[in-house]
Amino acid sequence: MPFAQVVGHQGAILALQRALLAQRVPTAYLFVGPPHIGKTTLAKAFAQAANCESPRYPRGETSDAEALLDACGECQTCVRIERETYGDTRVLRPRRRVEVKAEEDPQKQELQAELDDALLDVRLIERLRMEAAASAVEARRRVFILTQAETMNAEAANRFLKTLEEPPPDLTFILTTAQPSRLLPTLVSRCQISVLHPLHRADLKAELMRRMTAGPTATAVEKGDTGAWPHLPPERVEQIVSLSGGALGRALNLVAKPQILQLREELLEALGRLPSMELWEALREGERLLDLTERWWLAEHPDEAGAEFLKRAHDTAVRAELRETLGVMQSWFRDLLALERVDLLANADRQAALRTVVAPAYPPHAALAAAEAVEQARADLRQNPNLRLLTEALMVRLLDLRRKS
Ligand SMILES: [Zn+2]
Repeated sequence: MPFAQVVGHQGAILALQRALLAQRVPTAYLFVGPPHIGKTTLAKAFAQAANCESPRYPRGETSDAEALLDACGECQTCVRIERETYGDTRVLRPRRRVEVKAEEDPQKQELQAELDDALLDVRLIERLRMEAAASAVEARRRVFILTQAETMNAEAANRFLKTLEEPPPDLTFILTTAQPSRLLPTLVSRCQISVLHPLHRADLKAELMRRMTAGPTATAVEKGDTGAWPHLPPERVEQIVSLSGGALGRALNLVAKPQILQLREELLEALGRLPSMELWEALREGERLLDLTERWWLAEHPDEAGAEFLKRAHDTAVRAELRETLGVMQSWFRDLLALERVDLLANADRQAALRTVVAPAYPPHAALAAAEAVEQARADLRQNPNLRLLTEALMVRLLDLRRKS
């Protein structure tokens, strides 16, 4: 989408427009900001503005210094960049290949999914380097986007650095990350850094309301998605805004996949009962957490490929999705440490239950220990071979930490 349609990030957009107009574009940008905040969207908007067939100058008719360059969003080049089918713009996302043997097909087969613990591995980076060394097919400026750049391991990052040291003149790399401290310092020092901030609650809410009344976009209709936006009751909008942490992408995901909100309700409801549970109930909740996580995977991946992946690589899928459900659990206990600051609560819609039911059972030191126990379980996901033991032990530990009455 053109810069003009990007919500927020005005400062970053202005800097990109000025660099394009002055034809002083750095070899590499690093977009830093929380997940789902629009880093890749902005990177694609930059690629469009750099290559659009009929660029616009919203502040003037010519490309003088006062005018600001933007893409039309409608020409073939803009459309292909949006769809990621334009050869001179690459969007590289971390993927993990999983080898599975299907019973009906003993040949080894590979399934691919974007998992939380996936890497931009050496193979992907090597392919990117080869493409970078070739010349542009049609672009004025090639743009290669590497999302979640922190998932490059040291070997991949060092190979990538070699390309940055001798960059092709017509190519700009845009790296995105939510965790810049995990990047090699030598890599960061070669990038121009642009920090993207979460939207204010009011702006995020206004954008959701605007989309609700505006109906589907032209691009959505073209994709066959002619359905208007679901009409969300005001309390649902508030809930989505408070859960999204200022990240538009996260909010849109929750609008598109309302089952996730239901699963979250189910999870938080169980956590709310924890203070009065018996041991056997906690053990059962440990088992139910795995079942809920499986349904969470299906809600996040509602297409056929998602179901197929779950069927054939069940452990991998559940393990990956547990990071999400455990993250929700962690936010629940962290909220107990900031109960009076509703603007800081991840589960602001549950403030009343947190205060009256959970806080008496988990005073601050116990809440902190509980959050740490969940974090430890998340860390153990990589090693622990038995997921059921892991979730059951976690629930028992959480039960143990509550104040004995
Ligand atoms: Zn265009």
